[in-house]
Amino acid sequence: MLGLLVLLSVGPAKALSIVPTFTDGAETWTTVQKDVINYAIGQWEGLIVDNQTINVEFDFTNAGTSSYLGQWFVTASGISAGTDVYPWTPGVTHLIHLNADYFSGEYYTWFDPTPGTDGDLPLEGWDALSVAYHELGHMLGYANGFYFDDAGITHVDKWGSLITGTTFDPGGLNIEMAGLGNLGHLADSGALAGDLMVPTTPNGIRREVSSSNQDMLSLAYGYTFAPEPSTALLLGMGLMGLALRRSSFVR
Ligand SMILES: [Zn+2]
Repeated sequence: MLGLLVLLSVGPAKALSIVPTFTDGAETWTTVQKDVINYAIGQWEGLIVDNQTINVEFDFTNAGTSSYLGQWFVTASGISAGTDVYPWTPGVTHLIHLNADYFSGEYYTWFDPTPGTDGDLPLEGWDALSVAYHELGHMLGYANGFYFDDAGITHVDKWGSLITGTTFDPGGLNIEMAGLGNLGHLADSGALAGDLMVPTTPNGIRREVSSSNQDMLSLAYGYTFAPEPSTALLLGMGLMGLALRRSSFVR
């Protein structure tokens, strides 16, 4: 029993690898800013067991102050007909913009110098770590009409084919999406109001990857997520459970 417990808490050796490059532009990347992105990447990597590598560029834009905090931009080129397109498929290129026009002012994008805790998040700050989690969530599959199976032939959208109207996996996960023209986001209402993958994030709030995010990505793309710390806790008992709890939870 103890052996099984240790194995579950350590996790399999294989894991997702997300490799960032940081491009200077409207701003020059600071160490704190890079650390926030790397922290977000590390959290997603820790959740997904699949042995794949995804390269992603991060840059700064000037998109104005009635625009986005962050934006995932994806292109595909040289994809052969019949390819099953995944985030790591050769020819798929990921670019995540952070809008530097929100980096100052009364409300501003805030890069946490201690991303493991959110106690220092200012009320006026839009949390850059939450933005990074969110945009990486799009890259990993919260995307309608991009990740096709059998591209160009039967051309089945891995994500979109699970949605009827605005309902993702009707009768199963049964999750409401943000709208017919916004099927890459969750509706910010009902049970999942305030989820990481709703269209907007308020100031002063940190959001993290939810179990619904994991369930949806697993269903659409077949990702294998690492066992939850709480699952290991349930399998363990007594003192071992307490020790696990201290070392396993992120916050
Ligand atoms: Zn989004």
